[in-house]
Amino acid sequence: MRLALLCLCAAACGGSAKVEPPLPAPPGLVLRGVKLVDGRTVDLIIGGDGRLAAGPPPVGARTLDLTGMWVVPAFIDSHVHLAYLPAENDLLSGGVAAAVDLAAPIPFLARLQDGRLGALRLLAAGPMLTAPNGYPLASWGKDGYGFPCADARCAAEAVAELERRGARVIKLAITKPPVLDDASLIAAVDAAHQRHMKVAAHALGDADARRAAMAGADVLAHTPVAPLQPATLAAWRGRAVISTLVAFGAEPAALANLGALRAGGVIVLYGTDLGNSQTKRIDGEELAKLVEAGLDGLAVLEAGTRVPAAYWGFADLGSLEPGKEASLLVLDKNPQVDPLTLARPARVMIRGEWR
Ligand SMILES: [Zn+2]
Repeated sequence: MRLALLCLCAAACGGSAKVEPPLPAPPGLVLRGVKLVDGRTVDLIIGGDGRLAAGPPPVGARTLDLTGMWVVPAFIDSHVHLAYLPAENDLLSGGVAAAVDLAAPIPFLARLQDGRLGALRLLAAGPMLTAPNGYPLASWGKDGYGFPCADARCAAEAVAELERRGARVIKLAITKPPVLDDASLIAAVDAAHQRHMKVAAHALGDADARRAAMAGADVLAHTPVAPLQPATLAAWRGRAVISTLVAFGAEPAALANLGALRAGGVIVLYGTDLGNSQTKRIDGEELAKLVEAGLDGLAVLEAGTRVPAAYWGFADLGSLEPGKEASLLVLDKNPQVDPLTLARPARVMIRGEWR
């Protein structure tokens, strides 16, 4: 034994140019016999790099028999506030692999590294653009959650500044006065689009939502709570809405708006407004309200996975194909039949690690 150790040391330590041998990658894992929502039953292969792999399994891979269980991609929450309510680790263990942070003070942006806050993939807006003393500076957001601008030039420069600081999406407050004028809204949207950033609008009323569309905003940060007129619904066709139903009481008018927006060709993205809401995981109440608004089980699943992955550019999330991150939920029921099962996964894996 001593001889063997000596030999190892001689082999590893000898020579003047000491080169550490590369660590062997972990051998990987096979999830055997899982059901997918496309009807297939498969063995899912997870490589040592935390990504899904095509077969055959790596030599030495462990096998976990999950026969009869369902596996779906981990979720994306398209509206959170992690500076206001730090919950990134809770989100990960609750089945959320990525999120979009739609208002935080500028220093929060410096905490992101390679588009991640810890292990959570995150797209962040930094402070929302607003008028001096506008929403949310006079209320919950006085500590840097709003970026005040009095004119179009300031609005355009603010977008450039936020991008320099690390913002990858822009948020506009369009609500009761004081509020940005049309020229400022348009200048902000143009500056964001020049930089390939999407623009989310906080607009809860009908006229505000129509202004947001006219200025060129891409996505409603919330389902508006006041009844939307046909012209507003038409103006949003082909754009997107983030649900956040529970955070605003999930009143009948909001549920009707979400159904009408969706019927009119608006993309629906699951989002909770975490910080305003307090559920630090996939929110079963939000899923239930999506069902009430008319989404079936598959549509609910897609609003939290495939659709936001494509919309926000989380290219390695949202589906279970070889090469994508092994970020997934193991479920004991078919989420197409019982979408609320998504909020109580039996297991959660993020980037190849059980959480
Ligand atoms: Zn919010």
